[in-house]
Amino acid sequence: MLPSTITVLGMKFEIQYSDLTNEKLNGDSNIDDKIIRINSTLSEQAQKDTLFHECIHMAIGVAGLDNLITGKVEEALVRCIEHAFCDWVTIP
Ligand SMILES: [Zn+2]
Repeated sequence: MLPSTITVLGMKFEIQYSDLTNEKLNGDSNIDDKIIRINSTLSEQAQKDTLFHECIHMAIGVAGLDNLITGKVEEALVRCIEHAFCDWVTIP
């Protein structure tokens, strides 16, 4: 069972699971709306990996670091952190 909310750096996010295939997305996140969306057609493990990925984006956003780097650099950093630590992280 995947969580319906998650807290990142003290900020609570709602997690919505829906078919994002038409948008060609595994997931995305909006810090202003405090919503993380996950493509529900992915395997459970892929949904967890995507949730971890989006949580890293939100940590960067909550910390305000997204204002210091380009979107391209942020994506590269997120992927680096995701793949460096995904085997150690347990999504609740
Ligand atoms: Zn990303």
